[in-house]
Amino acid sequence: MNGRFESERKKMVEEHIIRRGITDEKVIEAILKVPRELFVEEAFQEKAYGDHSLPIGCGQTVSQPFMVALMTQYLKLSGTERVLEIGTGSGYQAAVLAELAQKVYTIERVKTLFEKAQKILSEKLRYKNIVTVFGDGTLGLANFAPFDRIIVTAAAPETPKILTDQLANNGILVVPKGDKFLQTLTIITKRDGELLIQDAGGCVFVPLIGKYGWREEVNGNR
Ligand code: SAM
Repeated sequence: MNGRFESERKKMVEEHIIRRGITDEKVIEAILKVPRELFVEEAFQEKAYGDHSLPIGCGQTVSQPFMVALMTQYLKLSGTERVLEIGTGSGYQAAVLAELAQKVYTIERVKTLFEKAQKILSEKLRYKNIVTVFGDGTLGLANFAPFDRIIVTAAAPETPKILTDQLANNGILVVPKGDKFLQTLTIITKRDGELLIQDAGGCVFVPLIGKYGWREEVNGNR
């Protein structure tokens, strides 16, 4: 069974990661290593290596592998960084980051997802360099700031200032910014206190909900 997933993973990396332009060898290796099938609901394991997002419960999704690889590549990780992820979801992106960075702090606001991800990351895969936190990620994690890298894996109406404040100098923040239907992947680099902003194309994410994100949906309105 494992062997089958392994060959599917290799095929997915070849067809959807390398062929679509991901060039960072370390990112490719990390995607080859992390067993995505463990992070999706059992009923969707067969589909774990298609290049699409998949349900993870509680109305949330794990992002498509190409988007995970692309966002990770934009972080330009060398192995020494402390990374903050907002939106743990299944924990898959956190596992990929943990393969490439020194330490990963990841925050999730949905308790069930937080508990499930924590179990997979620490008990099943035994990552020692991931700290899982339950709470509102739009507040960042002041006690552990500054972070060399910040990645937001839900769509923000604006980049919360609190997050750019918690970004170290020469740090990189990747965030999908926009409305409910379409967002722009935004790359923010901090240089001498200045924020340099780069637009990296369209993307679609579930909303970032919290004090400095969208409001919880009420009758379809955020
Ligand atoms: N990175 C995840 C993975 O690898 O599975 C996928 C993230 S999913 C697209 C977005 C996640 O962000 C959801 O689990 C959602 O509950 C979470 N989220 C939304 N707003 C949040 C907030 N303010 N703080 C923490 N998590 C948040």
